[in-house]
Amino acid sequence: MKAAQIVAPKEPLELKDLEMPKPKESEVVLKVKAVGVCHSDLHLWDGGYDTGSGTFMKATDRGVKFPVTPGHEVVGSVTQIGTSVSGIKIGDQVLVYPWIGCGMCPACKAGNENLCDTPRSLGVFQNGGYAEYVLVPHFKYLIKISGIDLEGAASLACSGLTAFTAVKKTKAGPQEFLVIIGAGGLGLMAIQIAKAITKSIVINVDLDDKKLEAAKKMGADHVVNSKSPDIVQKIISICNGKGAESIIDFVNAPSTVKMGLAVLRKRGNLVLVGLFGGSAEIVLPTIPLKAITIQGAYTGNYQDLVELVELAKSGVINPIISKRYSIAQANNALEDLKQGKIVGRAVINP
Ligand code: NAD
Ligand code: ZN
Repeated sequence: MKAAQIVAPKEPLELKDLEMPKPKESEVVLKVKAVGVCHSDLHLWDGGYDTGSGTFMKATDRGVKFPVTPGHEVVGSVTQIGTSVSGIKIGDQVLVYPWIGCGMCPACKAGNENLCDTPRSLGVFQNGGYAEYVLVPHFKYLIKISGIDLEGAASLACSGLTAFTAVKKTKAGPQEFLVIIGAGGLGLMAIQIAKAITKSIVINVDLDDKKLEAAKKMGADHVVNSKSPDIVQKIISICNGKGAESIIDFVNAPSTVKMGLAVLRKRGNLVLVGLFGGSAEIVLPTIPLKAITIQGAYTGNYQDLVELVELAKSGVINPIISKRYSIAQANNALEDLKQGKIVGRAVINP
């Protein structure tokens, strides 16, 4: 079977002919129908994250082994099942929960495999969906999908789920101000989810007017270009001069965190999600004086994905899929994302 693999950081992905996976016991093999192209695939391709202080956080130090097939937003149809699989049959259309953990650590035991101490996520630590077929280690990670667009469903596994968790973490309420930084795959999902479940007033920030246009279409009440020199004043004045109760930063770079902290009001909540890299200086007394909360969010748990699929079925979330690629075009897909050419999500149809 064909798979596009990252063989080494920053080297072009190679189209390889890999052996067909054979499922044992509770394992399942899917024919991949669509796989989302996430900005995290770009970081994996880069080989890790810039710390902003002259060092680099290597993916291999976190347990990634190259070559690896990326792709963690996977929708497919079941083609083979192991001997102890139940509730899933050949031909089922399924979405994969890719944030697979060890099953033994405190996070896994509490149902939060996404926060596992030794993660085994699909498309990161084991081969993912930039391939004709993918092996899923256990049938419990599959969610049957029917009645929703397959390509849109793929993007629920990461961009949707991560946005969902982040929105919940803000605890934003009706008529409160929620600033969403970034209008990419994650940001556009978060706008729709926030409008649906929090009824807060959403202000979206991005540096690309095309993305901001899409943000408006997805329901953002206000959009502001971060290149604007008086961005902080602009946002604070939208927030009645007090600042925003909540912020989700889907970029999380030095400039966005600085801006976020400047527009966060007293008692506010800042949720950091993006992995663009770098480090930031924080004026320490402001944290207790404003009694703000700064927290990180990493994807979401299985139960949240089940809930999100139901939300999508009800028509509340409409993922934007703006470009499609073949598996042989995996490098082009990643390059286009890197250059900011994708509005919403791109998918690969192997
Ligand atoms: P994307 O490329 O689709 O979107 C990024 C958006 O940010 C673009 O619209 C871009 O114009 C905008 N942007 C970039 N720099 C900016 C700046 N300085 N100011 C304002 N806007 C800026 O990316 P994505 O797939 O939405 O992912 C966003 C980030 O979230 C990536 O770093 C990704 O790795 C990370 N991520 C984190 C998690 C998690 O669980 N924490 C999960 C998935 C993705
Ligand atoms: Zn992702």
